[in-house]
Amino acid sequence: MIQVEHLVKRYGGTAFALDDVSFEIGEGEIVGLLGPNGAGKSTAMNILTGYLSTTSGRVLIGGVDVLENPLEAKKMIGYLPEQPPVYPDMTVTEYLRFVYELKGCRFPREQHLADVMAAVKIADVSHRLIRNLSKGYRQRVGIAQALIGDPKVIIFDEPTVGLDPKQILEIRNLIRNLGRRHTVILSTHILAEVQSVCERIIIINHGRIIANERADDLARVIEDNTHFRYAIAGDRNAITAGLRGVQGVSSVTPMNEREGDAACYLVEGTRGVDVRRGVFRVCAEHGWPILSIGAVGNDLESIFIRLVDRSDRENAR
Ligand code: ADP
Repeated sequence: MIQVEHLVKRYGGTAFALDDVSFEIGEGEIVGLLGPNGAGKSTAMNILTGYLSTTSGRVLIGGVDVLENPLEAKKMIGYLPEQPPVYPDMTVTEYLRFVYELKGCRFPREQHLADVMAAVKIADVSHRLIRNLSKGYRQRVGIAQALIGDPKVIIFDEPTVGLDPKQILEIRNLIRNLGRRHTVILSTHILAEVQSVCERIIIINHGRIIANERADDLARVIEDNTHFRYAIAGDRNAITAGLRGVQGVSSVTPMNEREGDAACYLVEGTRGVDVRRGVFRVCAEHGWPILSIGAVGNDLESIFIRLVDRSDRENAR
């Protein structure tokens, strides 16, 4: 549905905002574009939506080249920019009718607007001035305008910034539901957001893609760096020595944390080896109860930091 090929963008000077970025997104996928501030996310969004030209490379939406055929391509895209383009002095209905005309939409108008309002659950505020709505509702109106014309692709730029926790959950649910009927790109710097909403995650840093993985697979990117935190009851020195003797264990670090009468240990396995069975066996042999075990550093936040570190190191070479 979306093909991005060797995209390069320079804003003048020598710095690359995007440096040879390529990816594809299939129909009905929900993909997260994740990266720290300044990574190039907005630049990429603005090129995809036809608001910005490229230095080189091309973008196809449903096979249509965004630069060669911007009007045709734009019809397939609904866009919610970080600042939703809503008019505070219009009622919700007035505003959505306005967007409907602007997009030259052909569906039966009132039915289409009713469908869109139902999809984002704003029918109950349809006659209210946008100015008087809460930020969460205003954001839904922003999503409604993106849905008008039933575009195949919907692009969200930081859709939950400034919302309260309840509103954030509501908007994320809404985006997840849209993924059933649309191809969705969600640009954000919030890891929990892509984790809860997206099937695939593209991580971008300094204008380059540093990861493009299924959300489930991303944890495996760092599998060669397997750390576990164990809480084990028993003699500390004996346990430390015992764990160090387990095949595949490369280091054991007693920690200052305790869980009741158990001390905690950070156990690191060598690349590609899962040391948990060996640790279980040695503890069972010695009668040391394992009270808890947890993977360390396999959450998205840690993965992200490692990936960014890795790409920074590679850039520095
Ligand atoms: P993000 O959305 O991930 O925060 P941006 O796409 O806004 O990143 O920015 C990528 C890089 O391009 C940054 O280094 C930023 O300073 C630069 N940049 C963005 N917009 C402009 C512009 N209009 N003129 C010059 N440089 C820009």
